[in-house]
Amino acid sequence: MKVYCVAYLGFDSEAALYLESSLERAGLKFTSATPDIQGIRKVAEAKPDIIIWDTGGASGADVNIPVEEFRKAGLENQPVIALVEGGDSEGAIQSLASGAVDFMYKPLKEEPLPRIIAALNTGQKQNRARWYARVIDQTNDQIKAILAAMEDPAYIVSPQFQILHMNRAAEEIFGEGLRGGTCHHVFYDRTEPCEICAKTKGPARWRAVLKNGKSYRFVSAITRNSKGEIEKLVVGTDITPDEEVKKIHRTFISNVSHDLRTPLAAIDQYVSIMLDGLGGEISEQQKEYLGVIKRSSFRLHNLIENLIDANNILSGHLKLTTEVTNVKDIVEIILPRIKAQAENSGLSFQVTIPDDLPNVYADKARIAQVVANLAGNAIKFTEQGMIQLRAGFMPRDEGRIIVSVEDTGIGIPKEDLANIFELFYRVEKDKVYVEEGAGLGLSISREIVRAHGGTLWVESMEGMGSAFHFTLPVHKGDAVIR
Ligand code: ADP
Repeated sequence: MKVYCVAYLGFDSEAALYLESSLERAGLKFTSATPDIQGIRKVAEAKPDIIIWDTGGASGADVNIPVEEFRKAGLENQPVIALVEGGDSEGAIQSLASGAVDFMYKPLKEEPLPRIIAALNTGQKQNRARWYARVIDQTNDQIKAILAAMEDPAYIVSPQFQILHMNRAAEEIFGEGLRGGTCHHVFYDRTEPCEICAKTKGPARWRAVLKNGKSYRFVSAITRNSKGEIEKLVVGTDITPDEEVKKIHRTFISNVSHDLRTPLAAIDQYVSIMLDGLGGEISEQQKEYLGVIKRSSFRLHNLIENLIDANNILSGHLKLTTEVTNVKDIVEIILPRIKAQAENSGLSFQVTIPDDLPNVYADKARIAQVVANLAGNAIKFTEQGMIQLRAGFMPRDEGRIIVSVEDTGIGIPKEDLANIFELFYRVEKDKVYVEEGAGLGLSISREIVRAHGGTLWVESMEGMGSAFHFTLPVHKGDAVIR
């Protein structure tokens, strides 16, 4: 069985004797020395389990525990009980504040053993807590060392979204010296925390396009620091496809979509023959079934044509047939179709295009395709309310025309806004998935607008609606009239 050793540091021989006799009676070892550096070193050699520090014996009236001297002598884990002059409650409190786990008043009258056992217990608990804190600190240091060696960006944030640590790769993307800034501001230039961060208490996954224009998939995990505070560790993986992969992707899409065209044309043709009764008489029910096949094959046909179109455009093969024209004429091309679509969905559709807008130099069919895409989406993602199509001068810039399609629909979650122009990207929401679509329209539209020297962007608020805007440069040959 372990024999515990108690060390007394003080000048009070009466107290020392009292402690020695009662502790040795209980089977504990006892050692004592003067309360100075030599004395501390001397008792350290006996490897005591607990120290009794007589504050009355300390030089001057200093009742503080000399924690630093103890540490230097290798006595940092031993609990300390302070011996304080009877009634000196202030001294007792000060000794506790400076590191003692308990105190006893002098002259000693009570049996010291129970207090010593209790202090030993407290000391053991403190040691365990210190050990855990050290392990946590070491683990955190190891995590930081691993993060430093990683090529992917990684950072640690506080629950208040403050950046506590960033690895080298993250610093290369975002810049150095950003510790203390909020992640939504530094990484996404937003004033409010990103929804995914604000709402998710546990680990999360999301995708984002960062300042360097690359796409990343982020994974976050919850950790705790040695003070028990929660921190979030975030690691990003670059998922931007490289040129080689993009090429394989395009060739694959091109081959598959061209191969699908021929059998689909045959299906369409034979369904039409049967519907026209050229293959023999058909019942009303068969007619209905064939109608479903016809509509589905029409959707598939549109999808394939869009795929081929997207593939060509994104491979840099967009050929424009440009002419001097104006937005009003362009919109006229598709207006009847969009209006009918909106009407069928019970939505009102408003068009505001001033007559005196200057001309643009554009491919009419392609810009009409953009407007049709935006208006089609607006109708698709709006249950009630209205769609507005406007055109006008870009504010403070008479060299550009802005065309806007605004809706009162479901809106787009903040974390998806940066991605919706990516090929095949669709917002992962129940409502959106019941709607048709392949995530092609916006990427095609953005490329078309870019090819005309304009920009396409979105403003949206989830649950409130969306506004898509694109600009076109005014045709230089025309005078600008306002
Ligand atoms: P899709 O064919 O799926 O509509 P798009 O590229 O046109 O493909 O749009 C991509 C995604 O962006 C849509 O699936 C939808 O999640 C979102 N989106 C586009 N327009 C709107 C809108 N007006 N309102 C809400 N969400 C929209």
